[in-house]
Amino acid sequence: MNRPFECPGCGSERIQKARIIMRAGIPIGTETSRKLSPPAEPTSATEPAGRYSIYVGASLLLIGVYTLLTMHTLHANQIGLFLQTTGLILVFLGISLWALSQIKLNAKRPKYKEDYAKWEHLWYCSRCRNTFYDS
Ligand SMILES: [Zn+2]
Repeated sequence: MNRPFECPGCGSERIQKARIIMRAGIPIGTETSRKLSPPAEPTSATEPAGRYSIYVGASLLLIGVYTLLTMHTLHANQIGLFLQTTGLILVFLGISLWALSQIKLNAKRPKYKEDYAKWEHLWYCSRCRNTFYDS
């Protein structure tokens, strides 16, 4: 890849790499920042839900086990078993949600890598506000 010397649009030499401009910091939400922003890294909305289910499930499971081990009334045993079962289901659900989100993320990653690699060759002309790629 050769460093371009001028903007292919207007011939200005006031050109800079998008990566450098973004690193230096420009106001976000502007048209320029939208043009020059790197591709968004894929994130999964189900991942926090999965993690939350695992935490809550594990806590219920522990409380259930504790109830079973320490209290020996029929009522306590029923509650303990209920908490244990609910906890197990939640942990299982959480692990499934988390695994699903990881699979989805992995599927999006190659495209993101490709877009990101392309973005690293994006240039910006501060005279005509043109963006272009070096080649
Ligand atoms: Zn230009």
